[in-house]
Amino acid sequence: MTTGSPDRTVLSGKEPAAAIRQDTRATAERLTRQGTPPGLAVVVATADESSAWYVRSIARAAEKAGIVCEVADLGPDATPDRIRERLLGLSADPAVHGIILQTPLPEGANAADLAGAIAFEKDVDGAGPVSLGRLAAGLPAFAPATAEAVLAVLDHHRIDLSGRSVAVVGRSTVVGKPVAHLLLDRDATVTVCHSRTKDLASVTSTADIVVAAVGRPRLLTGEYVREGAVVVDVGTNPTEDGGLVGDVDAETVGPKAAALTPVPGGIGPVTTALLLRHTVQAADRAAEGSRNRPPE
Ligand code: NAP
Repeated sequence: MTTGSPDRTVLSGKEPAAAIRQDTRATAERLTRQGTPPGLAVVVATADESSAWYVRSIARAAEKAGIVCEVADLGPDATPDRIRERLLGLSADPAVHGIILQTPLPEGANAADLAGAIAFEKDVDGAGPVSLGRLAAGLPAFAPATAEAVLAVLDHHRIDLSGRSVAVVGRSTVVGKPVAHLLLDRDATVTVCHSRTKDLASVTSTADIVVAAVGRPRLLTGEYVREGAVVVDVGTNPTEDGGLVGDVDAETVGPKAAALTPVPGGIGPVTTALLLRHTVQAADRAAEGSRNRPPE
């Protein structure tokens, strides 16, 4: 935990990400020694530049962690059938332990629907309906890495959740909904807001903790949070000069908040680290499964 000013804590993601990466690398090395090098496949069907940047950064991080990363680029004209077929093929490939379906997808392709073609045990970004359903039912599943990253950062900085009121702004299946489930599991009192929420500021400004996952640059300004609130900014909005800004206006929220995640350097690095951790966990389970299988 670093203190940016006497009255504000910067909830950096760098330290928790480094700890997760170290642990992941050690597990990947052990698995490779034991004959199961962990494998991650990223399926891409877009020419979107920020998506390409993200995929390159995952591939680099995977390599550093000792994970074999395959990028299956199907091109921006790939049909939903072609994407599904590739996901089914990777799901059946024993060398692949984790599969990510990168968004955006071509028009007509539905990410949540196609993610259903990823084998549940390889769904390391919790994108499929089985993963989300199991998460909601309190059963073991990989949570979407970004949603889990919110909890990991709060835990790292010892922010108590039990009994506290949390306003989650955003209800997507990759961030808003799963983060609400994870917070509920930790005994927080959760309100989920979205674009039809009436008077958003009246909800967020009474919450102990605000989680912003909106995709609108600097939408949440000072009047959206109360003095002393903890604010988590999941937003990563590209700027014209090649930088990133969050969904929170740090300039006006910073002086009021007791703690705020930076963008970049907050939720982002932990998300990537967790994706890789999930991949080695999936590989570990696969290796354990094949050890326990009776000889044919
Ligand atoms: P999304 O699918 O576009 O969902 C955005 C949500 O925000 C929707 O539920 C939408 O409501 C709500 N919303 C939009 N405008 C609003 C407004 N004016 N007031 C209240 N709610 C509003 O986005 P997402 O995939 O969840 O991503 C959210 C943000 O997180 C983006 O900035 C994205 O880049 C970032 N992100 C970061 C990471 C990371 O690793 N750090 C990973 C994933 C996403 P409706 O449902 O009513 O439309």
